[in-house]
Amino acid sequence: MMQSYDVTIVGGGMVGLTLAKSLANSHLTVAIIEAREASELTAETENRVSAISFASKNLFDNLGIWTSLNASRITPYHTMQVWEKDSFGKIDFDAKQVNQNDLGYIVENKNLQLALLNAVQQQANITFLCPETLQNMAIGDGEAWLTLSSGKQLTSKLVVAADGANSWVRQQVNIPLTQWDYQHHAIVATVKTDEPHQACARQVFTPQGPLAFLPLYENNLSSIVWSLPPIQATLLLALDDEAFNQQLSRTFDNRLGLCEVQGKRQSIPLSMRYARDFAKHRIALIGDAAHTIHPLAGQGVNLGVLDAACLGQEILAHANVGDDIGLYQNLRHFERWRKTEATQMIASMELLKQLFNGNNPFKKALRDTALLMADNISPLKKQFIQQAMGLNGDRPYLCLKQSVTK
Ligand SMILES: Cc1cc2nc3c(=O)[nH]c(=O)nc-3n(C[C@H](O)[C@H](O)[C@H](O)COP(=O)(O)OP(=O)(O)OC[C@H]3O[C@@H](n4cnc5c(N)ncnc54)[C@H](O)[C@@H]3O)c2cc1C
Repeated sequence: MMQSYDVTIVGGGMVGLTLAKSLANSHLTVAIIEAREASELTAETENRVSAISFASKNLFDNLGIWTSLNASRITPYHTMQVWEKDSFGKIDFDAKQVNQNDLGYIVENKNLQLALLNAVQQQANITFLCPETLQNMAIGDGEAWLTLSSGKQLTSKLVVAADGANSWVRQQVNIPLTQWDYQHHAIVATVKTDEPHQACARQVFTPQGPLAFLPLYENNLSSIVWSLPPIQATLLLALDDEAFNQQLSRTFDNRLGLCEVQGKRQSIPLSMRYARDFAKHRIALIGDAAHTIHPLAGQGVNLGVLDAACLGQEILAHANVGDDIGLYQNLRHFERWRKTEATQMIASMELLKQLFNGNNPFKKALRDTALLMADNISPLKKQFIQQAMGLNGDRPYLCLKQSVTK
């Protein structure tokens, strides 16, 4: 039998589930189509973690999600240190400089995804279809027609692509992509260190690329994101643990003493992607389906969950006055809003990446002086901190502190 939904979200990752939760308790019917079944969080730390900004934490608080996370696996960080290898350039940030306790939170992606999943599965207006993939989609005037891998058929007023960087939906509706290879692969791993991290997120810029140590829930445990040219990443992955540990400790200037990698290392190719349209008739794109950026500032999922919150806000505003939520004209404000935020973020990432790229002595002197100046000019530093915390820009109401509780 054909089922009809108001909103169908393709992809039940962190971003798709955030949108679903923002539509919970409304009069709208929502379906989520997700290809992979989720597995439980185990004692072994996940390699994929995210630095969740203050704004995103507010969003999860207001959605009633934050308290459902496994609290023993959330690490608030209060300070941040950034420096350039073999130079005097450095900048330090402290939450106290903006009268806050925390700058952000390190959370395993799976921790967040499971909390969101549990929440949406309890909602009467949300149907979670998993494991299922979308196999066919036809966009009609008044609705979209969808066929799933099980043969199930649905119609929907709006289809939301939250199906990640290689979005099937985006390709089906022929939305062109601006894309460039960052010429970096990110090695991710969990690392034990001799010295405690003291709730500080650290990043060193080397001529090959940035290396970040993100503090985890034990004082001597960190998650690393090491961005390198692909050949060097391949060579590092092939090293045995001992040789890898030595290289890692040395590259990190021994800031946390000797490092000892735990479990497997993974390498992820990094590309910038930017969809030309974030919306079309009956279609909206959010999260990695709309844009991907370099992880050097830890902002990808923060941008994505804010897309979800903005789209949720727009859908509810139109539905409440009886508008057709799938009409392009009713998606245009969402599209303009999020394209502005995404392009600003992409431009900032590009500026940072180019600034720290290579060993040209003139460029090095310039950036070290710039870093020192920024470190000593409080208003400028405040601006950087607020940007990293997600407190600048036009935020959806769910990201404002204690807006609504669902
Ligand atoms: C090394 C690295 C470090 C990062 N660190 C940070 C950080 O510190 N902070 C931060 O904010 N961001 C970070 N990011 C970015 C962040 O990980 C991504 O932006 C985020 O995971 C994107 O979430 P998403 O839900 O949009 O996509 P995904 O997580 O890719 O989810 C897409 C979902 O769709 C499903 N799916 C795909 N196709 C189909 C289909 N046809 N049918 C049904 N289901 C489908 C998939 O199974 C998946 O569950 C990092 C990225 C990298 C690579």
